[in-house]
Amino acid sequence: MHTNLAKPITGLFLLMVLSSGLFAQTGRFQQAASYQMDIDMNVQTNQYTGTQVLTYTNNSPDTLDRVFYHLYFNAFQPGSMMDERSRSIADPDRRVGDRISKLKPDEIGFLRVNSLKMNGKDVVYNEVGTILEVDLSTPILPNTTVKFDMSFTGQVPVQIRRSGRDSAEGVRYSMAQWYPKMSEYDEQGWHANPYIGREFYGIWGDFDIKITIDKTYVLGGTGYVQNPNEVGHGYEDAGAKVTPPKGDKLTWHFNAPKVTDFMWAADPKYRHDKLVMDNGVTVHHLYIPTPDVTENWVKLMDYTPKAIEYMSEHFGEYPYKQYSVIQGGDGGMEYPMSTLVTGGRNLSSLVGVMAHELGHSWYQGVIATNEALYPWMDEGFASYAAALTMAEIFKPNDNPLRGSYAGYFRLAKSGKEEPMSTHSDHYDTNGSYSAAAYSKGAVFLAQMGYIIGEEARDKGILSYWNTWGFKHPNANDFIRIMEKESGLELDWYKEYFVYTTKTIDYGIKEMKAAGDQSDITLERIGLMPMPIDLVITYKDGSKEMVYLPLEIMRGEKPAEAGAPQRIISQDWPWTNLTKTIRINKKADSIKSIEIDPTSRLADINPDNNKVEY
Ligand SMILES: [Zn+2]
Repeated sequence: MHTNLAKPITGLFLLMVLSSGLFAQTGRFQQAASYQMDIDMNVQTNQYTGTQVLTYTNNSPDTLDRVFYHLYFNAFQPGSMMDERSRSIADPDRRVGDRISKLKPDEIGFLRVNSLKMNGKDVVYNEVGTILEVDLSTPILPNTTVKFDMSFTGQVPVQIRRSGRDSAEGVRYSMAQWYPKMSEYDEQGWHANPYIGREFYGIWGDFDIKITIDKTYVLGGTGYVQNPNEVGHGYEDAGAKVTPPKGDKLTWHFNAPKVTDFMWAADPKYRHDKLVMDNGVTVHHLYIPTPDVTENWVKLMDYTPKAIEYMSEHFGEYPYKQYSVIQGGDGGMEYPMSTLVTGGRNLSSLVGVMAHELGHSWYQGVIATNEALYPWMDEGFASYAAALTMAEIFKPNDNPLRGSYAGYFRLAKSGKEEPMSTHSDHYDTNGSYSAAAYSKGAVFLAQMGYIIGEEARDKGILSYWNTWGFKHPNANDFIRIMEKESGLELDWYKEYFVYTTKTIDYGIKEMKAAGDQSDITLERIGLMPMPIDLVITYKDGSKEMVYLPLEIMRGEKPAEAGAPQRIISQDWPWTNLTKTIRINKKADSIKSIEIDPTSRLADINPDNNKVEY
C-alpha cells in the first residue's frame, strides 16, 4: 500500500508544481473581456440603442455557470439602492441628496437588455436593479472563450453623479458607466456589487466602439479616434481635408486597447485643444469656451504634459499614447486614458484636480486594485502621486502631504473612523470614507517612507507598477513588494493601519542625568506600535539620532540622507510600554529631544513629541 502510492503522489505533486507555474509569477489569473459596440444616439430623446459583442475568456480554474453585468444607469431611478442610500446616510453627498427621488420619467437613467445570447444560444437573464443576473445553459469552462451578443436600449439620466446629461456647467453628455458591463471575477469570486455610489472594478480588454450622433457634436473619451479625417473637430491629421459623410449624423470610431472601461463625452460647443508630447503621448483638452474657462484651460496645457512626465518617471511609464482632460461630470472622475472634470475652477484647482485624476491612470487604470474593496489603494495612492506632482510643479515650502496628515488626524479624533479595510459602499458616513480613502491612504504611503526609508519606498513604488500592472493587486501584494524592497517584515503595519483604527501616540516621558551620561525614557501611549526616530539636539548645535526599530521588523531601515548621524540603534519590543536609552553625553549638554522632526510619523498627539531643556 505504502510503496504503491508513492509513485502516483510524486506524479501528482509534479503536475501541481508545473500547472501553478503557468499562472505567471503572481500566481493569479485575469479574466479577459473585449467589447465591440455600435451605438446610435438620439440627442432629442437622450436615448440610445446599442449592440454589443463581448468576447469573454475565462482564465480562472473555475467553471462559471452564471455571469453578471452592471447596468449602472438604473441607479438613477426613484427608489433605487443609490436613491435610498443617498437619502438615509447621515451626511449625504450634496450632489445627490434627494435628487434621484424626484426624477421624472424623461430624466431618469436606464439600461435595458433587449436580447442576450451566448455562443448563439439564448440565456436566461434577470434585471435586479443595477445588476443583470445571467444563468447560462452551457457553463463556461476554464481556459475557454465565449461570445455574448446583446442588444440594449439606454436613457441618459440628468447629470446627478459622475455621468449624465446637461450638467450644471451645460455639458450635454458625460457618458460614464453607460453600457452593460461584465462584472469582474477574480480569486475572491464575483464582484457583482450594486451601484450605490462608490467606485468600480473592471476586466481588461480591448474596446472597439462606434458612436453615431449628430454631426455638430464634438466627442472625446477613452479611445483613439480611428477615423480622424472623417470626424474632424480637431482630430484630423495635420493638413488633412475633413470629409464627413452625407446626412445629419456622424459615426465616431474609437479603439482602446487593454483598458477596464470606456468613457465618452459629447457637446456641440466643445473646443478641442491638443498637443503631442516628446514621448509621443497626445494630450487632448475638451471644454466649453467661456472667457474665464478658456483662460485656465489654455494654461492647463502647460501642466498636463508636465504631470504625465513626472508621474511616468516616479510611478511607472504611462503605457497609453493619449490622455484626455474633458470638461464634464460633477467634480473630477478618472477613466482609462481620460478624465471628466468640472471646468469653472481657478487655475490651481484645475491643475490639482487634473493631477489627481491623472494619478488614477496609475492606480485605477493600470494597477487597478478593486476600488470598491481597497479604495485607499486607489484614492490614497492617487492623492499621494498628485501631491508630489503638484509639489514638483509649484515648488511650495510646505510638506506636500501635510493636508493628508491633517485629514487623517481629524478622522482619527472624530470618533467616526472605520478601518480602511471597509468596503467603500459600507462605510457609515461619506466623511469617514473619504478621509480614510484619500487622506489615510496617502499617509499610508508617506509613512511607509518613514518606516523603511524613502529610497526603498520609492523603488518599491516602481516595483509595484512593474510587478502588479494589469493584475489587480490587493493590500497584501503591496506590503510584500515593500517587504522585498526593504528586507523588513511589515505585516504589522498593514494589520494595524489598514485593518484597525488604532492610532499612534508616542511621547518623551523623562530625561535624567546618570553621572556623565543621560537616560531618556520614551513611552508608547497609542495602541499602534511604530519604529522611532529620536533626534537629540545639543547646546553646541550638533544633532544625533537614536533609531529604535520595532523588534518585529526583523531589521533596520538604512540611515537616511539628510538625517543626523545615528548613535544608537536598538530594538523596541512592541509589548514594552516604555523604553529607556542611555546617551554618552551629560544631561546639561542637551538642548532638546524630539520624536521624528520630519513629521512623517502619523502621531495623533504631537504635543508630547518634543521637550526643550
Ligand atoms: Zn480620486
